[in-house]
Amino acid sequence: MTSSCLVVGAGLSGLMAAYTLQSNGWKVTVVDKGRGVGGRMATRRINGAIFDHGAQFFTVRDPQFAQWVEQWQKIGIVDVWSYGIPTPEKLTPIDGYPRYRGVPSMTAVAKHLASTLQVHTSTKITQLKQTSGWQAISEAGQVFEGEALILTPPVPQSLALLAESAIDLPSDVAITLSNIEYTPCFALMVVLDRPSLIPPPGALHIQSEPIAWIADNRQKGVSPDQTAITIHAGPQFTQQYFDAPSEEVALLLLDAARDWLGSASVKIYQVHRWRYSQPKNPYPSRMLRIDLLYPLIFAGDAFGGPRVEGAALSGLAAAQSLL
Ligand SMILES: Cc1cc2nc3c(=O)[nH]c(=O)nc-3n(C[C@H](O)[C@H](O)[C@H](O)COP(=O)(O)OP(=O)(O)OC[C@H]3O[C@@H](n4cnc5c(N)ncnc54)[C@H](O)[C@@H]3O)c2cc1C
Repeated sequence: MTSSCLVVGAGLSGLMAAYTLQSNGWKVTVVDKGRGVGGRMATRRINGAIFDHGAQFFTVRDPQFAQWVEQWQKIGIVDVWSYGIPTPEKLTPIDGYPRYRGVPSMTAVAKHLASTLQVHTSTKITQLKQTSGWQAISEAGQVFEGEALILTPPVPQSLALLAESAIDLPSDVAITLSNIEYTPCFALMVVLDRPSLIPPPGALHIQSEPIAWIADNRQKGVSPDQTAITIHAGPQFTQQYFDAPSEEVALLLLDAARDWLGSASVKIYQVHRWRYSQPKNPYPSRMLRIDLLYPLIFAGDAFGGPRVEGAALSGLAAAQSLL
C-alpha cells in the first residue's frame, strides 16, 4: 500500500493535500522553491510596510471548503474583510457576500497548515526520477523521496520539469496540459508618506487597463505602521511591458493610479512579475492522476478553478485520490 508522498509546491493546493494525507497517517514531504510558504497567497515586507501582493481575498462557494474556512476563522487566521468591493462606478457595493482575508495577512493559512508538516523551502526541484518510488532532486543536489508525487506548480512549470527529467506523459495528456494558459500580472508595491484616497475597505476593483486592482494594505489591516499600496496591472498591460525595466512599469502605473494616491509621495516601490497569475482555461476536473510506474497527480488552481478556493479543493481532491 502506498503511504508516502512527495508534494512539489507549498502553495495552498500542495499544503491542503499534504495536511490531509499526513492527518491520515501518510509520511509527507513538501518542497518549495520560495523562501516562504503560500505560493501566490503571498505577503512581502518592504522597510516596515507589509503587502499582500498575490491573492487579495477569497470567496467560499463549496460546502467542503466552507468547513475549513469556518475552522480557520475560529482560530483567528482568516476573517471577513468586506461584503463588497468598490468599483470606480459604485463606491459602496454591499452585496452581502463575504470576501475573506488572511489574518494578519494572506500567508496566514499556509503558515498554519505548514506548521505541522515537513516543508523544505528555498528548495527548487530540477529533476524527477522513478526508482523505487519517486525521487525529486533539488538544484543543490538534495534528494527527496515518496511513493506518490503531487505536482502543484503552474502547469507549464510542471511540464518543463517532467521534460527536463525525460519523463513522458501519455500524448493526449501532454497535449491537453500544454494548452493550459495563464494570464501574467504585475504587482506594484508602493510605500506612501501619507494615507491614500482608496475607499473603504481599502480596495478598488478597477478591472481595466492598465490597472485591474488597487488596494491599501493599511486600511485592510495588513500593514499597521505604513501606507502600503498594492497595484495589480491588467493582463494586456502586463503582457506588453513584461520585460520592460521596473522603473518604466512603475511610472506608468503610478501615473494611472494618481486619482487614488492623492497628494501622497512615493517613499519606495518594488515591482513583482507574476508570470503565471491565474489560469485562463483550467482543466475540467479537480486533479489529474496518471499512474506511471508510481502515481503522479497534477493539482493546483489550474484544476480546481482559478482562485484560492479552487486551489484548496484541488489539493483535497489530490489527497482523496491517494487515500
Ligand atoms: C496577482 C494575483 C492576484 C490574485 N488574486 C486572487 C484573489 O483575489 N482571489 C483568489 O481567490 N485568487 C486570487 N489569485 C489566485 C490565487 O492566488 C491562486 O489561485 C492560488 O493561490 C494558487 O494556489 P496553488 O497552490 O495552485 O499554486 P501556487 O500558490 O502558485 O503554488 C505553487 C508552488 O509551487 C512552487 N514551485 C514551482 N516550481 C517549483 C519547483 N521546481 N520546485 C519547488 N517548488 C516549485 C512555487 O514556488 C509555488 O509556491 C491571485 C493570484 C495572483 C498571482
